[in-house]
Amino acid sequence: MSTYIFGHTTPDSDSIVGAYSLSYLKNQLGEDSTPTRQGEINPETAFILEKFGFEKPMLKTDYAGESVYLIDFMESSQSPKDIDEATILGIVDHHKLGDLKTTTPLEMWVRPVGSSNTIVKQMFDYYNVEIPKELAGMMMCAILSDTVIFKSPTCTKEDTKAVKELAKIAGIDDPKALAMEMFIVKSDILNDTKRDLVFRDFKEFNMSGTKVGVGQLEVVDLTVFDTMKEELFEAMAEIKKEKNLHSILLMLTDIMQEGTQLLVLSDENSKIESAFEKTLTENQVWLPKVMSRKKQIIPFLEGQF
Ligand code: MG
Ligand code: MG
Ligand code: MG
Repeated sequence: MSTYIFGHTTPDSDSIVGAYSLSYLKNQLGEDSTPTRQGEINPETAFILEKFGFEKPMLKTDYAGESVYLIDFMESSQSPKDIDEATILGIVDHHKLGDLKTTTPLEMWVRPVGSSNTIVKQMFDYYNVEIPKELAGMMMCAILSDTVIFKSPTCTKEDTKAVKELAKIAGIDDPKALAMEMFIVKSDILNDTKRDLVFRDFKEFNMSGTKVGVGQLEVVDLTVFDTMKEELFEAMAEIKKEKNLHSILLMLTDIMQEGTQLLVLSDENSKIESAFEKTLTENQVWLPKVMSRKKQIIPFLEGQF
């Protein structure tokens, strides 16, 4: 029977590529596994899959009775609804310790690096398994995406080393140029509804019993949002109500200026203001140098609840 490997809800490139890379490794090690996804892929991931000749992994949202590996997450709020009825064989992740529980021993590869695919690369090295060229190219892109081309404060020397080695295997001379191409695809937000944009890279967190949702859009030029802020707020208000969130935040991250315009709808604006020691103006604030949700946003919010 095959095991399943998948990333968080609202999958990003690290989650989708990680499902492929970890499942390839497991198969090479003699364990039958299938990469899956919990939701629709984003345009950046579609670009990566097409570039290296991969299809979307199978969509699967029910896992009761299955054996699974989680990649790129370990929070119940980002898991399939029936995760408690699945057997978690292992977790490969680079986020904070989540709230999932297991009833059996498991394999865990958790490290504070910039991308789950950096950890998978290290697993390939550990087991001395060769990475196929096309898979190496995808893993390289996933790391460049998660580290925002090495600019994110989450980026470590291990990530830059992994990119260098993967680029060599993939035969890519200029990883940064390919990454820029990728971020330009990612910046194309004009074809989506505002609701889809809020959900494009959206995560829910349970902060000591309080539900908080944080979305992020990474673009090469923030001015694309100038004429659509009001509609983004409308979509955020709708989602906040539907999901019964205490707060919903949308990070509009400018990867060239290296900062984030934060849009906020909260039951208690004061909590958000004290989290970042800033005053909100029309429910917005500019946070210079802020690029990482996991490192520069979530820990400060958690401190307020
Ligand atoms: Mg992710
Ligand atoms: Mg990741
Ligand atoms: Mg990210």
